[in-house]
Amino acid sequence: MSSIIDRIRLGMQIFMIILAGILFFVGVVQFNILFVIAALVLALIFGRLFCGWLCPLGFYTERILGKLKRDKELPEVFKSKAFRFGFAMIFITALILLWLFSPIDRFWIPFIIMGAMFIFATTFALFSFDKAWCAYTCPWGVLSGILGKKAPYNLGIKEDCVGCELCVEACPIDGVPKDAVKNFHQKEKEGYEEFETRCIRCLKCYEKCPQDAIGVVGSGED
Ligand code: SF4
Ligand code: SF4
Repeated sequence: MSSIIDRIRLGMQIFMIILAGILFFVGVVQFNILFVIAALVLALIFGRLFCGWLCPLGFYTERILGKLKRDKELPEVFKSKAFRFGFAMIFITALILLWLFSPIDRFWIPFIIMGAMFIFATTFALFSFDKAWCAYTCPWGVLSGILGKKAPYNLGIKEDCVGCELCVEACPIDGVPKDAVKNFHQKEKEGYEEFETRCIRCLKCYEKCPQDAIGVVGSGED
């Protein structure tokens, strides 16, 4: 049975899919561009919150591709910063060029973007794990991660962590809390340790932590 947080998250994801449909039918076909802008603005305050709570593609990778139960490591090359940032830059440049010099009607460009993202996300899931695309390669995720680096509201490990790593097992984004737990204990549990910028704020780690040792850290801390 899913938790209350997960049910709220599911409700938000479904709401965004319905909103996308409404925007499309009232003629706002560039709704996905609006969603990207919203994701980037939110990232400045909360990190990749949009990815975990509002992204329709995130819904697809988590709730549909998640049923594939594939669990293979993504090759290291795809995890490297050089590849991830390089791919994001190429993807965004290609979009700008397509918009400026498109041989086809611009009406279709949002659909080309969506189609490409769905194909990439599905391919990554088939060859690795369900959220491999979201975890490492989605250009908007990479950009949100950069913008969210100094977000005032970040998640991380706080005092009371006993190092059980239940949070690591629960994380769908390839064990984001692992380094945070390690660093926190190396510092002899002083202060707090923020999660890295790939965290999508899904709170699955928070729900699993038996010590209530995961919460808001950084300048937005209580
Ligand atoms: S689940 Fe909680 S106590 Fe266990 S390692 Fe993670 S933060 Fe620490
Ligand atoms: S660290 Fe926690 S909130 Fe962030 S992606 Fe992993 S499970 Fe979700």
